[in-house]
Amino acid sequence: MPGLRNIGISAHIDSGKTTLTERILYYTRRIRRMHEVRGSDGVGATMDSMELERERGITIASAATHCAWADHRINIIDTPGHVDFTIEVERALRVLDGAVLVLCGVAGVQSQSLTVDRQMRRYRVPRIAFVNKCDRVGADPLRVRDQLRERLGLNPVLLQLPLGLEERFEGVIDLIEMRALRFTGDAGEQVEAGPVPEEQMAEAEAAREEMLDCVSMFSDELTEAILEGRTTTPAILGALREATIARQIVPVLLGSAYKNKGVQPLLDAVVRYLPAPEDVGHVTALDPERDEAPVELHADPARPLVALAFKLEDGRYGQLTYVRLYQGYLDREVTIVNTRSRQKHRVGRLVRMHADAMEEIHRAAAGDIVALFGVDCRSGDTFTDGRLSVSMTSMHVPAPVIAVAVQPEDHASEGNLAKALRRFTKEDPTFRTTVDRESGETLIHGMGELHLQVYLERMRREYRARVRTSAPKVAYREALTRPARFDYTHKKQTGGAGQYGRVIGEITPLEDGEFEFVDQITGGAVPRQYITAVKKGFSDMLARGPLVEAPLVHVRVVLEDGAAHSVDSSEMAFREAARGAWRETVAKAAPRILEPVMRVAVESPPEFAGAVLGSLGQRRGTIIGSQEQSGQARVEAEVPLAEMFGYATTLRSVTEGKAEFTMEFARYLPVPAGIAETLVEEARKRRAERRR
Ligand code: GDP
Repeated sequence: MPGLRNIGISAHIDSGKTTLTERILYYTRRIRRMHEVRGSDGVGATMDSMELERERGITIASAATHCAWADHRINIIDTPGHVDFTIEVERALRVLDGAVLVLCGVAGVQSQSLTVDRQMRRYRVPRIAFVNKCDRVGADPLRVRDQLRERLGLNPVLLQLPLGLEERFEGVIDLIEMRALRFTGDAGEQVEAGPVPEEQMAEAEAAREEMLDCVSMFSDELTEAILEGRTTTPAILGALREATIARQIVPVLLGSAYKNKGVQPLLDAVVRYLPAPEDVGHVTALDPERDEAPVELHADPARPLVALAFKLEDGRYGQLTYVRLYQGYLDREVTIVNTRSRQKHRVGRLVRMHADAMEEIHRAAAGDIVALFGVDCRSGDTFTDGRLSVSMTSMHVPAPVIAVAVQPEDHASEGNLAKALRRFTKEDPTFRTTVDRESGETLIHGMGELHLQVYLERMRREYRARVRTSAPKVAYREALTRPARFDYTHKKQTGGAGQYGRVIGEITPLEDGEFEFVDQITGGAVPRQYITAVKKGFSDMLARGPLVEAPLVHVRVVLEDGAAHSVDSSEMAFREAARGAWRETVAKAAPRILEPVMRVAVESPPEFAGAVLGSLGQRRGTIIGSQEQSGQARVEAEVPLAEMFGYATTLRSVTEGKAEFTMEFARYLPVPAGIAETLVEEARKRRAERRR
């Protein structure tokens, strides 16, 4: 079997990820023609199959495409860069074994590079870096290399030097083989190797020395070879590969995707230094029956199948499910079992995808990434062949922090909206929909403003649903702060059969988790058959807290005692008793409002750091840290989501548009008293409004 690489390409927006991906597909002959991003031919880059992305020229949703280079197969998993898509980014990172970090040769390490880097670290993904846009005025690959060290704490090793720079950027000097590479032909498809120019020789020799010094730190073999004066290319490549896979170094390559320079050596580097699936250790699944205990997996086709569905796509060919095989194999005859739903499917058709073309295959083995047809599942589901029952992802999904009400504008839109919502909730567990019981409004919930905006745009474009939206609403929660006792009797005598139920116990704050019900009834004071009804009665009440009608979390109910009547007691009576007990007691448990707090990182030139700190302070931000490095100031803070609406505009105006920020959900924290009062008052008005 030829070697396999599963890689991601990650970048700060506008660094040239799309252009680079497109060049890669071109040089590996998967496409005939190159299209410029936002080009005048109106076709758009091949990877961007969604119309929305085509227009924006950015890639949001992940897709897997594959190509071949130097006797290896490469699956490219497109990782969405924006942090609002954390679940998607993380799922994409799960399935890749290595990554190319694209950096702009002028802007260098930017805010999103930091976020992506943090995620890559978490998933222990080995990387190589590609400093793009070396043709642009101000490009300085050596400075970018330094930033990788200083700002990301990586150990970058330069494998090339630029051959000219800015408008005179011609190609690269390969420091391993000490030759100059130029890219000729209409689209740079010919790589011409020549001698290193005389005037750059000294610089190149010094850089090679530095590279060898650094790499030999991780290889005794290479150290020996150097000492004995027999430093061969295979020895260097071997040491580079080992150190990269061990995440000791990050090889740095250079080029200009746009000018077709440096892409082929980058492909060589992907094959040479990034790991094959079998080089990656530490892959574990979770056993849902044993409290999610880890189960080690091995990229071995002979073992029982374990595959992760990491992406669903509604394409012109029907529903496609992208899966990564971690163990075992798949062919058309295999029956797969969904660990979550227990549903079984015959595989039927197995395909490999290129953005717009498709290739049917007969078999796929551990390590590979393929797509299945017509399999009903959710993104993040795990498939096995029934011999093992494990899951690749934890069932824990973060709760959405923001909501927007959506209302169809006409009859046709109503049906289309419903279709779109069904689709999105299946694809993305952090995207949810609910219907407000009282107002009848449909709400969509997600992880941030941009997250929801993207879905709103997809509704319009892909599903032709015209919808009106409300202003975004923060997803507050309510939580108890102290225990309170209840003793409540529900009693009704109307005509025929009466209703009777009495419940006694305590509601208390719970450290973690949403709701816990503890049954301490002994001697049948509340008969067995009514216990579930009591639990239901309490959980009914948690959907709307008493303060701002937000869901209650961290609640424990202990049922200690009670009473029943031989004729008048029923499930309904006990459910009502529980509800009544809650209503009467909840205020005594002193509930408070919790709000989502975001972790915000802002980068700006140092002269604006003061203004940035001020802008965050005004928004109830708590500064966590600020530092200055490589001429950029970076401020990190925790800021309530409610204060972050419109921040982009503020930031632009206080920094003359020279700052950037990212944010992601951090945690829930209590709302300060003064603000809580306002929120409660607003909720009271809303209730009064509804009653009118
Ligand atoms: P992405 O947002 O990272 O996917 O970046 P794109 O590939 O969409 O590129 C953003 C912009 O930078 C586009 O206008 C590209 O034409 C341009 N671009 C990409 N690569 C290069 C490069 O190597 N040199 C120059 N000068 N421009 C580039």
